Amino acid sequence: MSKELRQRIAQYGIRAKKGLGQNFLSDSEYVYRIVDAAELSSGDVVVEIGPGPATLTPHLAEAVGPEGKVLAIEVDESLRPLLMDLCREYPQVEILWQDALKVDYDAVTAPYRGDKPFTLVANLPYYITTPIMMGLLEGRFNLSHMVIMVQKEVADRMLARAGTKDYGALSVAVQYHCEVKLVTKVPPGAFIPPPKVSSAVVRLNRRRQPPVHVFDEKAFFRVVRAAFNQRRKTLLNALGGLGLEMTKTEMSERLAQAGIDPGRRGETLNLDEFARVTDALYR
Ligand code: SAM
Repeated sequence: MSKELRQRIAQYGIRAKKGLGQNFLSDSEYVYRIVDAAELSSGDVVVEIGPGPATLTPHLAEAVGPEGKVLAIEVDESLRPLLMDLCREYPQVEILWQDALKVDYDAVTAPYRGDKPFTLVANLPYYITTPIMMGLLEGRFNLSHMVIMVQKEVADRMLARAGTKDYGALSVAVQYHCEVKLVTKVPPGAFIPPPKVSSAVVRLNRRRQPPVHVFDEKAFFRVVRAAFNQRRKTLLNALGGLGLEMTKTEMSERLAQAGIDPGRRGETLNLDEFARVTDALYR
């Protein structure tokens, strides 16, 4: 694959653009692992963000077959000749020349999937991983699961458990919306050009229901952000950042009633405990 990719890059005169996060996956072992983890079937609709020089795209097209659809979103117009040739070879592939941050994913997939959810697969441009991912989760699109390549550090944060050094607002947000699994770690040498950091592929299964019930979801995320904004402070002090009209004594009493020690640090709270804190303060 490495040789094939190099040939394709040379044939179409492609130069990897650092500013667009272009590190192309050249080791076919990882391409197969990503496509396998997506568990696609014939007729499925899959969205790919950033097809680049079509490293994953033909494999996705084969997995969904001629009855399926691959919608690949790309901003780099210099890839047009290569990707147009790919579309001729695989008519089920369509390129959307748009910024992935601005796409209405339900609207673009609806004509092909009816009421069925779509799948998302991407070797994400690292400079916009978090906004893309959070946009997809918070946008409440009809998405069943995603298989995405991210920086290893970001994968560690997505998978982190309460009380560990990687645990933060991103961990809570991702775990609130999804069940997260590590698919594989990927070394820099698997890419052309090799990035400076290690990478990892994760699979995120969208939950039908959040794992904890909260009375006010927006308040839940405000509490989480406040707790991690000042992660070295006690929960009681960190929650002062919420600006609630409540004395510290009252706040402390409410937390204690909810079974949460106000002297704990916010970073030790799991999702259920954050939910209890939120309900105690906002209900
Ligand atoms: N899928 C290819 C692979 O696995 O080798 C390329 C992955 S490369 C890490 C990221 C791709 O995302 C590049 O092709 C880049 O041009 C594209 N990209 C960067 N910013 C984008 C954006 N805002 N919207 C859509 N695509 C973007």
